Amino acid sequence: LDRFSFFVGGNWKANGNKESVKKLVQELNDAKLEEDVDVVVAPPYIYLDSVLNTLTKRIEVSAQNSWVGKGGAFTGEISAEQLKDLGVEWVILGHSERRHVIGEKNEFIGKKAAYALSNGLKVMACVGELLEEREAGKTTEVVFEQLKAYADEVPSWKDVVIAYEPVWAIGTGKVASPQQAQEVHAEIRKWISDNVSAEASSQTRIIYGGSVNAANSSELAKQEDIDGFLVGGASLKGPDFAAICNSVT
Ligand code: PEP
Repeated sequence: LDRFSFFVGGNWKANGNKESVKKLVQELNDAKLEEDVDVVVAPPYIYLDSVLNTLTKRIEVSAQNSWVGKGGAFTGEISAEQLKDLGVEWVILGHSERRHVIGEKNEFIGKKAAYALSNGLKVMACVGELLEEREAGKTTEVVFEQLKAYADEVPSWKDVVIAYEPVWAIGTGKVASPQQAQEVHAEIRKWISDNVSAEASSQTRIIYGGSVNAANSSELAKQEDIDGFLVGGASLKGPDFAAICNSVT
């Protein structure tokens, strides 16, 4: 991989409190990160401002969601404009917890991605199949439908990182094998080439998420089409997260 930097995102989900967030920021500020890796963390909305004000500029900051259109009368939502106003650079969209716990649909997520991009946010666009979909041999069908929903809406993939996160591997401790992950990443890259452009296919980073930790990240990172990680649980411990960031050597 010499055409772009490895990319590691940390998704803190709805974890932590003021004290633990302060400690995690301190650990990240103290961590030694390799030069050619892009590192982004996604704190809960309510801690974004304090993290932006205390975290080293070496690490970029992401939201975990954003509203589908212009802000206004949408109780409980946060708009892309507001995220930009705060200084947030990224947003995670289409996470499996938003799809399968909250019920967000492909089309809605595609529109969110387009709106966030149009406001200058960069997007981690998540895709991934459920266990029953994998067992029914529908992994690529499901992932391609999710990709199409993004492709139908976004004008460019320049500011998009694709996160392949098999739902059965998220928060379960059941990491996909390097071969299982590589296989889907290669399919995603081919889909982008066939349906978007050869340029987007070769330049869009495809990162893997699902029970990545400091012990399994190096083997995954060796795979041809794995360009980084989206990390949940292990991103809550500074030293572990730093080790994952540094796992591409
Ligand atoms: C995630 O939620 O994006 C994720 C990959 O979680 P975990 O690493 O905890 O499986």
